This record gives sequence, C-alpha cells and structure tokens, in this order.
Amino acid sequence: MAIGMNQQFIKFEPRTQKFTVLGKCRYCEEPQQIDIPAEDARTFGDWWEGEDICIQDATPNTPAEQRELLISGICPKCWGAMFGGGQ
Ligand SMILES: [Zn+2]
Repeated sequence: MAIGMNQQFIKFEPRTQKFTVLGKCRYCEEPQQIDIPAEDARTFGDWWEGEDICIQDATPNTPAEQRELLISGICPKCWGAMFGGGQ
C-alpha cells in the first residue's frame, strides 16, 4: 500500500461513481483533494485494495500531478519547489 498523504482517507460517491481522496500534504500540511474520474473508478478501487497494478494503469484518466500526490503525498506546489525547474 502506498504511503500517501497525512490523514488520508477516501470517499466513494455511488451516484457519480467517483472516488475522492482527501488528505494533507506531507510537507506543507495543506489540505488536498484528488478526484478520481468515473472511468478510473474500478481500476483505482483495485489499486487501493492492494491489487498488483501500477498507478499509471489504475488511473490513466487522472492528471499526473494528482497521481503523484496519491503515491508520494507531496502536493504539486511542494513537488515543484523540490524538483521543479523554477518556473
Ligand atoms: Zn505541500
């Protein structure tokens, strides 16, 4: 299971078939929200349950920076500050 964000938890909305992951960035502690599109819900659910699939395959329709947040627990702002090319 991934490390993820601090105080991470997950919600599923049956009406829209969407997952929402909530938590706080491991570095700046700012609240974060990741919306998993309905297209990715089934494979994402498998990944979350610990199925042996990589996150890129589990959430192909989710933006890469949101995916990064799921795995590393680091928000795009902190990620950019650490590794970005100073944009
Ligand atoms: Zn952050």
